[in-house]
Order: sequence, then structure tokens, then C-alpha cells
Amino acid sequence: MPVHPALIHITEQSHDVLIELIYATENNFTGQVIYDHPLCFLHPQAEAGLRRAALAARGFGLRLKILDAFRPQEAQEALWAVAPNPDYIADPAKGSNHTRGVAVDLTLVGADGQALDMGTPVDTMTVASHHFHAAHPAQIQVNRMLLLTVMLESGFVHHPHEWWHYQLPQAGQFALIDSHDFMTCLHAGSHAAAGSVAP
Ligand SMILES: [Zn+2]
Repeated sequence: MPVHPALIHITEQSHDVLIELIYATENNFTGQVIYDHPLCFLHPQAEAGLRRAALAARGFGLRLKILDAFRPQEAQEALWAVAPNPDYIADPAKGSNHTRGVAVDLTLVGADGQALDMGTPVDTMTVASHHFHAAHPAQIQVNRMLLLTVMLESGFVHHPHEWWHYQLPQAGQFALIDSHDFMTCLHAGSHAAAGSVAP
């Protein structure tokens, strides 16, 4: 039996998704590069859910666009240093579900390649990011509900304050993934991607 990897490498090709990791660039709310690898990883159980979600999105003629997935502890500390707001950023002393590899930030992209209008940019830390925020017009509510439907159907749960954040149920029961385990996955990453189909 193969050793189960702590994290599985997600690529656009292997998972039929688009990937634009916002913290690997300056194009995020901090204006800083938070981590310097452009690779996307998830825990095997979350990866299985993502496969279901990608298929479900296709059923609506849409695709998923991943904005963030596994986040190393050092990156969580860097985010917290910029925005120590526990409503939107997990205190690194407690650990983020992104550092457990079971949380993913994402949106939906239409057939034209454009992201659907979700009413706010990702990481907007105001009530406008809350699910069902009543001030948004109907089309935005529908767009958010499409993402909600796809993700709930695929085994994730939502975060009431962040339209873009989904995670596995009981996420806190998963272990935080330490830097050593992550480096092993990172080095294996590009080679393992093709063979990372769960048994
Ligand atoms: Zn998130």
C-alpha cells in the first residue's frame, strides 16, 4: 500500500481547475508576496472533494478558480502580522485550517474566462463578504449560491463571513501540517502530481 502523502499537489491539468494563488504574488490585500512557491496543495480528503466540486461546476458550465489552498505556518504568521483580525484571519498561535490543508479559497469562472461577480474582491474584510448580505443584487446572490451549491454538494462547509472560503467539516480535527512535511511535499510536488490519484 502506498504511503499516503500529507498533501496532494493540485494542478490545472490534473484537476480541471484554474489556479491563481493570490499570496504567491503581490495581488492580495497585503500588497506583499506571502509565499514564494506558486504551487497548490490540499489534504487528500479535501483534494477528493475538490475533484467532485470541479465536476459539479462543469455541470453549470463553470470552472473553479483556486485562490489559496494549503498555507504554510510562516505564511499564516505573515498574514496575521498585516491583519490580526480573528473574524477573517486565523490566529497562527491556534493554527489556520489552511495550514491543515483542508481549506480552500476559490471562486467561479464562466465560459468567457471571467470570474463571476461575487460582489466583493476576495479577502474583503467587511459585512459585504458575508453570505446572503442583503445589499447585493440578485445576480450576485445567485453567483454566490452557485459556488455554495457546488461546494456543499462536494462535501465542504462554508464560512459565513467569507463567500470564497470553504473547508472540510470538523476541520479542527485535522493535524496542522508542519514545515518538514510540507517541504517533502513541495520537493515531490511536480513529480508526484501525475501519480497523485487517491487509491
Ligand atoms: Zn480561506
